[in-house]
Amino acid sequence: MPSPRIPAGTGLSAHVLHEPTIDEGVLRPTHLEVDLGRLAANYRAIQAHVGDRAVMPILKANAYGHGLVEVAKLMDSLGAPYLGVAYLEEGIRLRRVGVTTPILVMGGILGSQIPLFLEHDLTLAASSVDKLRAIEQAAAASGVRAKVHLKIDTGMERIGVHYYSAEPLLEAASRAEHIDVEGIFSHFANADSDDLSHSRLQLERFHEVLSFYERRSLPCPMRHMANSAAIAALPEAHLDIVRPGILLYGVYPSPEVVRTVPVTPALTWKSSVVYFKVVKPGHPVSYGSTWQTDHMVRMVTVPVGYGDGYPRAMSGSAEVLLHGKRYPVVGRICMDQVMVNIEWDSAHNGDEVLLLGGVGDESVTVEDLAEWAKTIPYEILTGINTRVPRVYLHESP
Ligand SMILES: *Cc1c(COP(=O)(O)O)cnc(C)c1O
Repeated sequence: MPSPRIPAGTGLSAHVLHEPTIDEGVLRPTHLEVDLGRLAANYRAIQAHVGDRAVMPILKANAYGHGLVEVAKLMDSLGAPYLGVAYLEEGIRLRRVGVTTPILVMGGILGSQIPLFLEHDLTLAASSVDKLRAIEQAAAASGVRAKVHLKIDTGMERIGVHYYSAEPLLEAASRAEHIDVEGIFSHFANADSDDLSHSRLQLERFHEVLSFYERRSLPCPMRHMANSAAIAALPEAHLDIVRPGILLYGVYPSPEVVRTVPVTPALTWKSSVVYFKVVKPGHPVSYGSTWQTDHMVRMVTVPVGYGDGYPRAMSGSAEVLLHGKRYPVVGRICMDQVMVNIEWDSAHNGDEVLLLGGVGDESVTVEDLAEWAKTIPYEILTGINTRVPRVYLHESP
């Protein structure tokens, strides 16, 4: 693993540690249930929607909070031909637990990381001629062949060679002796909008780049561009492989994306009442004393907070479910605790509180949390901290 760089002369050294923050043998009252049956059904629904195209489940950011290793193993068992992650470390983690499926690391790379890609048989995104050259040299030096997908920027300005100057990369790649160019890909900037004109323009630019192969009578590598939004809303962008992230987890990227694929969310975030009290008028609740009642209320405290990824920005708007009914979180959300106003209803220590998920007709959705926190569903899912234990529910055989 490359060590973090410490400025010379500071007298400091460093070591890298990826450690679970919770003893896995002990179940905290606050935990996240991941329904693997639903994830499997979502994968199958996406596969059915795209017909004979290949599906590459995207597992970055701890599989959008669902757990990198467990979700990878599930996707593997369902026959996913390729897995996608953002970072080298995510790919190495999957190799270390025995996942042998091809894995594309989609993000930008440093020259110093290339030997680790080769050692762990991870597929690199080559996003410039210089990067491709560095990959070729590293592969030649270690006597192996590197697997590469070429990254084309068609209008995102993140990584990738610009579509208007991509030809030298495609040419260099077709001549490289220690590189197998398995794929070529691009990424949409606005496929989650109701106006798909920019997406269509991006797709058109991608096709222009791909015409290189026809003009040179060279075999075209596997083409891919569709994220969740394009999978649902832009069938002409499905190409050879699709790359579903959030849709796989049962959540749509935005309200604008047409609901063409039947998927359901797989997460239920649970906690319990750990304290009960009566609060009098004129006695403000939580940090900053921002909230108080004008009549006596019953109130419970729940052991979850922004230190778990329950966003502080939801202070004043969040709601939870208790006994199937919605109640407001009042006062500021703390690091490890929140207070819930139950008016004059009853509750007891140990009663279940749902932070996310449903009972009966009532539910709290990822979209609700995103709206309360003034963010997008992606940030809610990926923000649920590793301090929250994951409990996996298996598909009944
Ligand atoms: C994150 C990501 C995806 C998946 O995006 P969703 O909107 O979650 O489907 C696909 N491709 C790339 C390059 C990504 O970075």
